[in-house]
Amino acid sequence: MPKGLSDTKLKFEVIINNIEDGVILIDDQQAIRLYNPGASKICGWPIDEATDVAASTVIKLVDEKGVVIKDSDSPFSVIFNTGQTIRDGKAIILNRDGKQVPVSLSVTPLFNDANEVTAAVAVFRNVSQERAEEKQRADFISTASHEMRTPVAAIEGYLALALNDKVSTIDTRARDYLDKAHSSTQHLGQLFQDLLTSARAEDGRLTSHPKVVELGSFLEQLSGDLRFVAEKKNLFVEFVSGSSGTINASKSTGGERVVRPLYYILADPDRLREVITNLFDNAVKYTPEGKVTIGLTGDDKVVQCYVQDTGPGIPADDVPHLFQKFYRVDNSATRTIGGSGLGLFISRKIIELYNGRIWVESQVGKGSSFYINMPRLSSQKVTELNKVAGNTPGVEPVNSLASP
Ligand code: ADP
Repeated sequence: MPKGLSDTKLKFEVIINNIEDGVILIDDQQAIRLYNPGASKICGWPIDEATDVAASTVIKLVDEKGVVIKDSDSPFSVIFNTGQTIRDGKAIILNRDGKQVPVSLSVTPLFNDANEVTAAVAVFRNVSQERAEEKQRADFISTASHEMRTPVAAIEGYLALALNDKVSTIDTRARDYLDKAHSSTQHLGQLFQDLLTSARAEDGRLTSHPKVVELGSFLEQLSGDLRFVAEKKNLFVEFVSGSSGTINASKSTGGERVVRPLYYILADPDRLREVITNLFDNAVKYTPEGKVTIGLTGDDKVVQCYVQDTGPGIPADDVPHLFQKFYRVDNSATRTIGGSGLGLFISRKIIELYNGRIWVESQVGKGSSFYINMPRLSSQKVTELNKVAGNTPGVEPVNSLASP
């Protein structure tokens, strides 16, 4: 042991100066008071230059799109308001050379006797290697599921031909077996598709072609397309828009039409259809009887759509995990009803692409409501976007916009 190592301060310095992790201490003005060589290696700022400088200048955090996080949103500032430890396993530091370094970051508050946050300690570790390995795994899943979809599509096609009276002759027993094989193949095809989409969603390669979408007419049309699935199960379907009432309830005569506000958002309509269809299919799949409602409402800033059912509901313990990959509630219904647990994960990733939020409110025995909030486009923004994109098909003339 080097001479003097029994001294606590010296031990502390040896550790701080030799660990690979970045360690910094910031004061209540968010200025750096201690900055170790590990931090210097990750951020690219020499120790003497970083000391006394604002933490958010030296440790410049960016989001996954590479946009610098505002000072007021940075954990070095937030910690002084919340007094809660902040952990972010997916943080990214933009170092002094402009290179993005993925880090796992935690910021812990230090309190005085009056329980005020007077300083904070941040520890961060370079996780480039872990991220590269994750990417390799995601690439493998993505390539494998892509390759496997082709033969599955061929099998499905041939089974469909075998089941087609016009091209094949089969006896009744064989039809029954082939029917089962056909639906399992369709299920397998969907599973590969979901695996592919979720792998792409994870590494930010989900394709998206955002357009101006008027959510009212979009959802009205989509609920018209989707209702047949529900009606096969004798479920009532309705589409409710704004506070102005129900439009086009199935099984109602004529479907009363009412004036409603126009809710414009910016999103890829195909991706949006994927999300609503998934929520709707789940509602139908898990609801034995009753009603499925697709609803739309909003205010000046936010558009909210929801899919509500009168099904079994979701236990409170499962709710926080529902949007994670492969998560399925373990009950008799999910054991008999097929599914991969990928649908809600993919839905969340898609909604987050458009700066939206998706969540569920549910009561066991009463039903579930899945909500989506997305930023509402102002009429001015719609006009600007339409000018840029030319006349976007499906978008109503701007002068017909109600509000905001
Ligand atoms: P999957 O339906 O393929 O299992 P999802 O990711 O779409 O996967 O859903 C995850 C889980 O959430 C389901 O397995 C089910 O347990 C639960 N769930 C989703 N929607 C509903 C619903 N409307 N009612 C009750 N449970 C639901």
